[in-house]
Amino acid sequence: MRKRIDFICPHCNNKERVSIFDELDVSSINEVLDRSKFTHTCEKCNQKTVLDYSFKFHGNGYILFYSKNNEIEKNVKRICYDFGDLKEKIMIFEDGLNDILIEYFKHYINKHINKNDELRYDGSDEENIIFYNLDTKDSLGIKKELYDYFLNKFKFKDKNDVEVNSESFIKYMDN
Ligand SMILES: [Zn+2]
Repeated sequence: MRKRIDFICPHCNNKERVSIFDELDVSSINEVLDRSKFTHTCEKCNQKTVLDYSFKFHGNGYILFYSKNNEIEKNVKRICYDFGDLKEKIMIFEDGLNDILIEYFKHYINKHINKNDELRYDGSDEENIIFYNLDTKDSLGIKKELYDYFLNKFKFKDKNDVEVNSESFIKYMDN
């Protein structure tokens, strides 16, 4: 699970041994989401470096693979090639939502505002599913009733070991 590797500080070239993790689980979810689990502080110069490497994340009832170097992993729910995507998937699955439908909603919102903005799932409250628009910095809510309506209306062709993003989601919908 935990490996020790040689690390050379990019700021001062100090060589140290640091820990990296092949697999992480929900017990360190907050440190994964804010990336502190991967942030190393140099003993010599105190500069922080984020170590970006592939790992498996074991969530509540799902496994994700963060692929840094285009490696493929089997028997995982999703593969993420971008750390922002991984964070979003963790939030979606921990909230018990369908990521294919979340991507559909982003597409639906963009169509409605006639744009192609980058939207991120940003949590839910009692009534709404919240999206954050990275381009305009606005938050936008979709009623949960609408989400539930579409969840029942659509059929999904869910598959393991795939990337589901704003382009690929359509392959996993059966309409
Ligand atoms: Zn240093």
